[in-house]
Formats: sequence, C-alpha cells, structure tokens
Amino acid sequence: MSMMPDEYVASIKDIDLTKLWREGRRLILTDLDNTLVPWNDPGVPSYLKQWLKTAQGVGFQVCIVSNNQGPRVHAFAEIAGIPYMAAAKKPKPDAFLEAMRRFTKRPEETVMVGDQLLTDVRGGKRAGAYTILVLPLHPREWWGTRIVRRMEGVAMRALVRRGLEIPKRPGNS
Ligand SMILES: [Mg+2]
Repeated sequence: MSMMPDEYVASIKDIDLTKLWREGRRLILTDLDNTLVPWNDPGVPSYLKQWLKTAQGVGFQVCIVSNNQGPRVHAFAEIAGIPYMAAAKKPKPDAFLEAMRRFTKRPEETVMVGDQLLTDVRGGKRAGAYTILVLPLHPREWWGTRIVRRMEGVAMRALVRRGLEIPKRPGNS
C-alpha cells in the first residue's frame, strides 16, 4: 500500500484544524515522540497545551497512539490531560481501529498525525484514516527508530519523486 500521506506539514501547529473539521474529521489520533514532544521528554510544553486547547475548542477529540511503553505514555497523557493508547504496535492498524471504536468514530472521521512514514502514516492508512506527516521535532531518538529512519529515507525519496513536497522548518530560511 502506498505510504503517501494526505498532508505533510512542518509541525502540528501547521495543521489546518478548521479545514479538517469542515471536511468531517472529528477524531485526531496522534503519535507522541517527536510529533508532540521531543523523544522521551516528560514535560508538556506550552505550545502543546495551546494546540490541544485549540483542537478541543474546534471540537476534536484527541488521543495519543504511541508505540512507546505504557508508563511513559501514561505519565505524559496524565499531565497533558488526554486519553492514550500505548504499546500500539504501529504500523499494525489494530490500535487505531480500537481508538475509533472507543470514540465511536469512523475511519473517514479520523485523522492520524505522526512523524514516521513506516509506522504512523502506513498504519493510519491501513486503518482508513486521513494521514498527516510532520517533521520530527528532535534528532535524538530511540535506536530502533534510527534504523527505521534509514529505511524511511528510501520510501521518502520515492514519494518525493511522486510529488510529495517536504515542508520547510520554520526559522530555517
Ligand atoms: Mg514518532
């Protein structure tokens, strides 16, 4: 299956939430590490609190779907005040589908946001969600992710050849 994301933006702040809502999206499933916060960062930064408030203000339900282990995700989700699914085994679609059932939303109402093609986008597409790829927040990563990144480079180059545009990082001009 194609790994072409429906959108590719620099960061969660660049997601057009009102457009998604108008298009009938109601549930945002989001990756945690390097999508919402740098890898294994325990804090909830103010930009994220603001974004969550904005998304919930539009009407979205937001739920973290992370491959990271339970305690880390639980601790974070607790502080952020949002629901989560940990040890999700992305790109398997199961956790996404379970989240949709949990919030009684259909795949076409669901958005998956993440920084990785091979887990987030691929899994989100398997579950039938609308997929948004973001640039990873920080180069520091779990060693397994670094290996995946190398494979991801190959997939990314193929997508770029097919017209996927890589967004510019804000501040890098
Ligand atoms: Mg990630």
